[in-house]
Amino acid sequence: MERRERVILYSDLNNFFASVEIALHPELAGKPLIVCGDPKERRGIVLAKSEQAKKYGIKTAETVYSALKKCPDLVLVESHYHEYAKYSRLVTEIYYRYTDCVEECSIDECALDVTESVQLFGSGEEIAEKIRADIKRELGLTVSIGVSYNKIYAKLASDLKKPDAITVISKANYREKVFSLPVSDLLFVGKATEETLRKLGIRTIGELAVADETLLYRALGKRGRQLQIYARGEDDEPVKPAKDKDDVKSIGNSTTLVKDVTDRAEVKRWLYVLSESVSARLRDANVGRANTIHLVVRDDLLQFYSWQTKVSPTTLCGDIAKCAFELFCLHYPPGKRVRLLGITVSGFDHDVRQLTLDGVLGVGKSADYEKKKRAEDAVARIRKKYGYTTVQRGIVMEDEKARGMDIRGQKEEKFSKEKHPKQDA
Ligand SMILES: [Mg+2]
Repeated sequence: MERRERVILYSDLNNFFASVEIALHPELAGKPLIVCGDPKERRGIVLAKSEQAKKYGIKTAETVYSALKKCPDLVLVESHYHEYAKYSRLVTEIYYRYTDCVEECSIDECALDVTESVQLFGSGEEIAEKIRADIKRELGLTVSIGVSYNKIYAKLASDLKKPDAITVISKANYREKVFSLPVSDLLFVGKATEETLRKLGIRTIGELAVADETLLYRALGKRGRQLQIYARGEDDEPVKPAKDKDDVKSIGNSTTLVKDVTDRAEVKRWLYVLSESVSARLRDANVGRANTIHLVVRDDLLQFYSWQTKVSPTTLCGDIAKCAFELFCLHYPPGKRVRLLGITVSGFDHDVRQLTLDGVLGVGKSADYEKKKRAEDAVARIRKKYGYTTVQRGIVMEDEKARGMDIRGQKEEKFSKEKHPKQDA
């Protein structure tokens, strides 16, 4: 018997950071506005732009200097990550009114499985409409929602019409809505894959859907087959709701740097800032130690790179930072600009305990580890009592911006197209 058709929504907040700033300061509504790290820093980059700023051709990640050339009246606003994290939570609470199956894909994007909610609230499109109206009325933000029968198409649909829009891709209309789109619109198709497919004469999603399987396999391996499944709308990956801590599989943070960085010492500093945050969250999550460190780097052309490595299990900031910096030095071309850095840890004790005996017999817990851990425990206690940024490492203290940085609310980027660098970079 065939399974009931799923109803998946993919919700993407429009110009999220800029929209939150406008919601907080209504006098800015209708003005061309950008959010940037430091408005006084002309070499800083655009983190987000308002709808009005978009009309001047201003793009995310271009320099503030170049944005100002396009629009001299541009309003520059400093970023406020705590507010964005707060709004993100408030939006998520709205989603939970309609389903408890909500996957947070990034700070401004969520996938929702509403299959079970249809009897209660109406069709997928009707639920999307209710959510759109709630978010607009209660928070003053707009959202683009894709409605489909699988996650990949729902995400694709959310990109088709912006802002403040709902797009449905159904089994009846997917050929006409999806097949003529460029293959690069498909999630997980980055520049390198696009180029490989182009060489095979595949330019559209429709062409990918009907391409010869052997050909795809030869060019891209198993991933070629997977992409074809996505193109055909046969993706059956479930929406993964965030539940209790037993389901925490990874913890990560990333940050876009105030300006592009090439200096390794500076990269190292930011890796410490990130590691502090990841390590603090790892502690709070109470999931034990992590045995895998994953580093993500984005360059000035917005290309993603990522590497990961196994380590002896740790919760220590020092270990995480050291390992991430080693990965960086080992793999990232010297002198190449860095725009974003991210660190994610996974392979927690409670996942691997039974497999490795680690943590049960105390294997790998050297005296040195215990000593460092006691020091970091003490820092964690002070921070809990007096505030996160009251104690900082020397390397972080050296930089004024890094010093006051608390990025625990900034999530790792998970479900974005450029991610999956392992295949593409
Ligand atoms: Mg968005």
